[in-house]
Amino acid sequence: MKAMLITGIVDLEKTNTPLKYTDLPDPVPGNGEILIRVSTCGICHTELDEIEGRTPPPHFPVVPGHQVVGTVAGAGRNARRFREGDRVGVGWIFSACGKCSFCLAGRENLCDGFTATGRDANGGYAQYMTVPEDYVYPIPEAFTDSEAAPLLCAGAIGYRSLALSGLKDGQNLGLTGFGASAHLVLMTARHEYPGARVFVFARSKEEREFARSLGAVWAGDTEDACPDKMHSIIDTTPVWKPVVEALAALERGGRLVINAIRKQDGDKESLTRLDYHTHLWMEKEIKSVANVTRRDIEEFLKIAADIPIKPEVQEYPLAEANVALMELKQGKIRGAKVLRSG
Ligand SMILES: [Zn+2]
Ligand SMILES: [Zn+2]
Repeated sequence: MKAMLITGIVDLEKTNTPLKYTDLPDPVPGNGEILIRVSTCGICHTELDEIEGRTPPPHFPVVPGHQVVGTVAGAGRNARRFREGDRVGVGWIFSACGKCSFCLAGRENLCDGFTATGRDANGGYAQYMTVPEDYVYPIPEAFTDSEAAPLLCAGAIGYRSLALSGLKDGQNLGLTGFGASAHLVLMTARHEYPGARVFVFARSKEEREFARSLGAVWAGDTEDACPDKMHSIIDTTPVWKPVVEALAALERGGRLVINAIRKQDGDKESLTRLDYHTHLWMEKEIKSVANVTRRDIEEFLKIAADIPIKPEVQEYPLAEANVALMELKQGKIRGAKVLRSG
């Protein structure tokens, strides 16, 4: 099969072809696993974190990609949940131990044994992949393969962020950064909390216009003074400055949720501007979002189909994965990028 591989950590200032396009033997499903013929795979900022070493794969080479949509093409021993031809998806959670206190409490995203699709195990930048059948989700008919892919990570983790933000209907929600996840959060929030007002802080004019077109009541630059205080803010940027700005924009008792697997260190000195009185006092909270549970993905797919949320997608052939990743790196974003394998 054709696949795109991460073969080692690279510096994207020095190369614009971090992934290697190659032929690999078709994978064979093991005990309890199914084989998926990949149709589409969403592109996530986490791939850049893997490639640049902020969340490095434990072994190389590895096939990246954790927003996978395809059809069941085979099953290993004891795998009986799906039939050949069923349309299914795979998200960031590839497996968890199932036995620890976190797993038993439904917080498998915090499990010590958590493994990630496309980092700890081969993912969807390929024509085929194998995965434990318990970590696979039927895809609702409401979506095309391309529309469904970004829902599996950007959407599901955005949904988890929104739940963790503590937002209540009628309150103000701020979004700092407006990429794949934030635009889905905006659509979900408008549906789940019809009385909430959404404010978007984004660098580029295009992102701000896009946010307004989706119903944001206000969209400005990260430094612009916002007309109101925010009860909840979700930060999806890879940097630190927006974190400090967001804390200043929080209402008393408000909560900032940071939805990023890693932050880049480039502007870390922004944190020295943190002033207790301006940014933290009055019971402001900061919380991060880690990984995702199967329940997040299942619930979000259902909600997304009910609304329905149709993510804005930009498609690239599998062989063009490097082009798509470099555009993401350079911030050329409108909606979500998706690779097509078949
Ligand atoms: Zn992701
Ligand atoms: Zn566990």
